[in-house]
Amino acid sequence: MESKAHTRIHISDLNEKLVGSSVNVKGWIDTIRAHGKLIFFDIRDVSGVLQCVVSAKNTILFEEAKKLTKESSVSLIGNISLRPKNTINEKISTGTIEMSVTHLEIYNLCPVLPFEFDNAEVGEEVRLKYRYLDLRRNNMKHNMIFRSKLMKAIRDYMYSQGFNEFETPMLAKSTPEGSRDYVVPSRVHAGKFYALPQSPQLFKQLFMVAGMEKYFQIARCMRDEDLRSDRQPEFTQLDVEMSFTDKEEIIFLMEGLIKKLWKDLLNVDIKTPFKRMTYADSMKKYNSDKPDLRKETGEKYAFLWVVDFPSFEYSEEDKRYVSTHHPFTMPNMEDFAKDKFKSRSEAYDIVLNGVEIGGGSIRIHDPKIQEKVFEVLALSKEEQREKFGFLLDALSYGAPPHGGIALGLDRLLQLMLEVESIREVIAFPKNSDARDVMLDSPSELSKKQLDEVHIKLELPAKKNKK
Ligand code: ASP
Repeated sequence: MESKAHTRIHISDLNEKLVGSSVNVKGWIDTIRAHGKLIFFDIRDVSGVLQCVVSAKNTILFEEAKKLTKESSVSLIGNISLRPKNTINEKISTGTIEMSVTHLEIYNLCPVLPFEFDNAEVGEEVRLKYRYLDLRRNNMKHNMIFRSKLMKAIRDYMYSQGFNEFETPMLAKSTPEGSRDYVVPSRVHAGKFYALPQSPQLFKQLFMVAGMEKYFQIARCMRDEDLRSDRQPEFTQLDVEMSFTDKEEIIFLMEGLIKKLWKDLLNVDIKTPFKRMTYADSMKKYNSDKPDLRKETGEKYAFLWVVDFPSFEYSEEDKRYVSTHHPFTMPNMEDFAKDKFKSRSEAYDIVLNGVEIGGGSIRIHDPKIQEKVFEVLALSKEEQREKFGFLLDALSYGAPPHGGIALGLDRLLQLMLEVESIREVIAFPKNSDARDVMLDSPSELSKKQLDEVHIKLELPAKKNKK
């Protein structure tokens, strides 16, 4: 057992079997209690906490231990022993043992913390400014690890269903997902801009044209919208697309995924198939396209598919029709033949407890239908070529019928973890003002940087400084 002293062991691997042996643990000082000739402290690593004790009998060690502050990083070597019966802590896995420290190495002493870790009332600005400390706290660590497990479970499921994960560009071109783009100026091409993707929508459709058949990606999407508690400028979604498919297959696939996620991560059995409702019925009955059915069903998790959305809605602002989902969604062709503007679409949303957690559609694979839909959206032939020439061309080369869906993972996590804000499940989120207060971003650029990208600033008069 002697060699254990030289190999670091994780705290969760310590147990009563190691009583009598000397081990090395590394981590952070969680709490300190000085009792005269004894100093007790807890050391914490990613896996757990362990009570440690230093006695004044070892003078040099005792003097060193006196310097310890909360959240300092250390390496300890010591002997594992059983705790006296009356000091057993049932709440932690190492609650029956402790370490009598024989060697202490301090890597970094931590100064006074900007906030107390066990204070639940700490303001969000401070937490975000010192996010690396905030993430050390148990609940945030739990959220992050839960998130990681969710990502793994999703990937396991998607691969088991024959999907491949493909990446898509970040520097892309403005595509209309119905919101404002974040743009990136080009240095090489003066006066031209990339747009960050609002979603990989067109790329995933091109993967279908390319014959990949089953695509998924845990993808980052960027939308320049006003923020709410469940919105961030960038968010993560499970993006899915399949060829030769239909609505039923996509719904079945997603229900299987949700069932697995709830079982694996929450140990909750979710009943499938989920309820379904048409958009028209939902609006009539609840005056909402994402009704919360918890009261009605008596369930903690009330899933619902809302189907048959209208293809288009009139925008007073733009004085034209816009797509309810996006312009690549297949209209109900029978409706479309009768009255284009009033046609329903092959789009579906998935709703959980009154929150839209995802949506998708069967896509247009016939370039002629795509052109007709662009016409409804009042895009001239020139605009169609300029903005979507590549798509119309791609569809013309034997594009297969295809469809897909995207699930908003941050919102899903927020609901699974029952936390107040989406920011609790994102490691480094923006605040409610779309700022990263740790990085102090967005921030100004130097004159040189601006010149390089051919940008001259013309700022609005400063009203309220933000
Ligand atoms: N691209 C859509 C979105 O991000 C989802 C989809 O139609 O698959 O909302």
